[in-house]
Amino acid sequence: MSLDLRNKEFPTHVCVCGSQLWNVKCMFQDYEISMYMLEMECFSCGALATAPTLVDMPEDYVMMDDRPKEDYDGEEED
Ligand SMILES: [Zn+2]
Repeated sequence: MSLDLRNKEFPTHVCVCGSQLWNVKCMFQDYEISMYMLEMECFSCGALATAPTLVDMPEDYVMMDDRPKEDYDGEEED
């Protein structure tokens, strides 16, 4: 049985198994994703989770492209 990590208060980018790839139901417009459902499933372990959206982003969040490359090793900081 797969884990159920769904939580609208704490959407996630990374599964507890370490995977960053998700199965998501989405729609396309002009060759880009135009809409996606918030319920998603881990590609690796099948856990259910809540997809992140722009309104979930904390004010002090640093975008991946703005992070110094040497400071980011692929792991979330503790
Ligand atoms: Zn997983």
